Amino acid sequence: MNLRSSVLSALMLGLATLLPAAAVAAGAHAHSHSHSHAQAGHGAHEHGRIALEIALEGQELTIGLEAPLDSLLGFERAPRTEAEKKAAQAMLEHLRAGQGLFAPDAAAQCQPVSATVDAPVLQAGGAAKGEHADLDATFVLRCALPQALTSIDLGGLLDRHRRIARVEAEIVTPAGQFKSVLKRPARVLRWGR
Ligand SMILES: [Zn+2]
Repeated sequence: MNLRSSVLSALMLGLATLLPAAAVAAGAHAHSHSHSHAQAGHGAHEHGRIALEIALEGQELTIGLEAPLDSLLGFERAPRTEAEKKAAQAMLEHLRAGQGLFAPDAAAQCQPVSATVDAPVLQAGGAAKGEHADLDATFVLRCALPQALTSIDLGGLLDRHRRIARVEAEIVTPAGQFKSVLKRPARVLRWGR
């Protein structure tokens, strides 16, 4: 277990003693801060592995994605050739569109609301600070029947990005806090059952 997940686990254990509603709110708060690049113990960068932080609060489903750029593009620096520029642009546009990436339980009736994508090394003037670079993204969906949500089909993401071999997810819902690991060829991330 790395430092970050240790901190998260300790935080979640602490939250478990609070009122459920407060725990969920605080969990979402912690989630929103966990993408800071300056934070000590930021998730380990390992090609082929991506991390998801999933939080369900009321009808709002937030999916935080942290991925090595290699897993999405095959390189981790500013694009050099026209082909690389096109590939980077297409990848960013696809993620920012936020459509067809995640398919929560149909019964939960979730619709995409927003998607924000941050990949500094790909942006104009961006420069890699080291050999590796990540992409961070946050997807928000609204679910009419959130209590029906116990899985998310990641097929849309996995089909487009063949380099992703493993997905490590932390899930915070009113029903509890879970960890789930998905390895290709599995496509559906499940928790709570
Ligand atoms: Zn890397």
